[in-house]
Amino acid sequence: MKNVMEDVACAGCCCVCDDIQVTTDGQQILEVQTACPQGQAWFQQSLQTDALAPLIKGAEASPAAAVSRAVELIGQAQAPLIFGMHQSATDAQRAAVCLADRIGATIDTGASATTRALQQVGEATCTLGEVRSRADLIIYWGADALLTSECHRQSLDSGTQIVSPKIVSLGSALPESCEYVDQMIPIESEREFEVIWSLRALLKGVALAGNEPAGISLSDLRELVSLIQKSKYIVFFYGPEFKQGPLSHRKIEALSLLVREIQADRRCHSISVPRAGETKGAENVLAWQTGYAACVNFAAGYPRYSPEEYSANHVLEQQETDLCILVGAIALSGLSECALKHLARVPVILIGPAAVNLPNLEVFLPTGISGIHFPGTVYRFDGTPLPLRGYLTTGKSSEAEIISEIIALV
Ligand code: SF4
Repeated sequence: MKNVMEDVACAGCCCVCDDIQVTTDGQQILEVQTACPQGQAWFQQSLQTDALAPLIKGAEASPAAAVSRAVELIGQAQAPLIFGMHQSATDAQRAAVCLADRIGATIDTGASATTRALQQVGEATCTLGEVRSRADLIIYWGADALLTSECHRQSLDSGTQIVSPKIVSLGSALPESCEYVDQMIPIESEREFEVIWSLRALLKGVALAGNEPAGISLSDLRELVSLIQKSKYIVFFYGPEFKQGPLSHRKIEALSLLVREIQADRRCHSISVPRAGETKGAENVLAWQTGYAACVNFAAGYPRYSPEEYSANHVLEQQETDLCILVGAIALSGLSECALKHLARVPVILIGPAAVNLPNLEVFLPTGISGIHFPGTVYRFDGTPLPLRGYLTTGKSSEAEIISEIIALV
């Protein structure tokens, strides 16, 4: 019998669209409406999860044997690293933190740049609902995937706006299909820091006096200042292209200062946008469990934070781990090339609903999907927690259940 469900949430990316119609026959998904291709792929994953078997060194094993091998590997490890959790529900992220605490591991969410910046200067932010209802100028900085997402466009369209907000894109040149972008201002990536400081100066009425930044034309810069001054509610969405590079935390810090200064006489907020496919809750969970949002090490028996030393990329690049536990569907997202090189040399345990092609995958523990097989909570990229429903049955355990099983045995 067909079962049509309205307002189902998708955890396929940070947007967490929660207006999707899903038709099932009780056993599997037959049709998904209102989802983008990425969302379609996320829902279709559920067709494969039941066929996935636990693996030990590539050979099929029973779930109990795979868990027991994982426990054995953890027992032998001196410096385990837990990473991923990008599309995991809150309960799995909480269980991962608990496992890190139990085994003295380093755990990282990949959000160290944003965390470092926000610890220094704080963040003035808002929800997507406020952006939709109030913003009259929306600036996308290095957030091309979000800007070109049809689902995101729809989420900002209340249908009752008298005047549409002005949309400005900063950063790299956009594909031609972005007809809703009112203005595109190209900025060289390595000059973005200078551009922010020049904007701060111009907004305060300080003449640049021969110190015009390279990488942007002065007329574009002045036009941007004038747009900001004419607007009442400005929102910056800053994305992965803006947050890359070794000094990205300084750029985010500078942007937060700019937002704070604009706030002096009008409303201005910023929202950090994760990479494609990533969701954003792991840093919230890590922060409420340990006091730190990323890069936490439990080796001393209590949480220690070091944004450089305990970041997953650094730990892998410096070869400071001898076991990597990956959690979630896209567990390798955010790792540098050098980090991936070392990852190929250490034993890996993968707990998630999709297999990853790694030559050194010691144990694979397949799971069901939160939001399809299990209920849960996931964070939208504006920091709003949204409920996920579980509407299909599966023979698989959830990520949280498998991690809890491991915790009970180590
Ligand atoms: S935009 Fe993201 S959350 Fe929305 S349907 Fe597509 S993948 Fe799912």
